[in-house]
Amino acid sequence: MVGGALGAGAWPRLAARPSADGEPWLPVPDLPPGPHPAASPSAARFETHGPGLGSRVALTFDDGPAPGGTELVLKALDRRKLRATFFMIGRNAARHPALAAEVAAAGHEIGNHSYTHPRLDRLPANRAEAEIDRTQEAIATATGKAPAWLRPPYGGFRRKEQGPLARARDLGVVWWSVDPLDWRRPGARRIISRVVGETLPGSIILLHDIHPQTAQATGELLDRLLEQGFNFTTVSGFLGEPYGPYFG
Ligand SMILES: [Zn+2]
Repeated sequence: MVGGALGAGAWPRLAARPSADGEPWLPVPDLPPGPHPAASPSAARFETHGPGLGSRVALTFDDGPAPGGTELVLKALDRRKLRATFFMIGRNAARHPALAAEVAAAGHEIGNHSYTHPRLDRLPANRAEAEIDRTQEAIATATGKAPAWLRPPYGGFRRKEQGPLARARDLGVVWWSVDPLDWRRPGARRIISRVVGETLPGSIILLHDIHPQTAQATGELLDRLLEQGFNFTTVSGFLGEPYGPYFG
């Protein structure tokens, strides 16, 4: 189904239903009538954080896959049985397809981070499209699955003009809500303290597995967030498929 294309009167109605544990039936209100303002076929979905329910957060690792850094991050996640999202540069996925496949096989989500890491908002439409499409292809070739979410490099994306490019490819656009500026190499200690100090339920945390300090900090960072009671999910674990039936 084309997500977000539900017309007036077509919104699903939730009926009252008995709860599984035999409690009395609970009335569930109908959803408001459509059409929703975001339900145009060309409207894209943009997100910066997830719902805070269950104290969940999403760690995201950009710019890989990179031998060394990505492997260290994978080990830290695997040891704790946690999932994260890797926004890969298409060119790196094409160079290291086995590593991209290893990330996917470990149960992590892989997102599109463009092919050569340009500012997409400064490119004409045909070049921005090529950056996105080549990356979808490189990741699908390496892992068997094309990404559902796009993270524009530097966050540079023109919502109104470029939203339809993402929407036409069924890609949601996701930014972040916590940025420890790890690419400036502030040291593992500071990366950890910045993330732990700023993370809230629903945070989407921006990190880079290509930077050794970040890769080395990841294990302790996970432990500190676990101590604080956070749970971990992928971007789609939070936000679902970008254009599922309840988009809008
Ligand atoms: Zn990047």
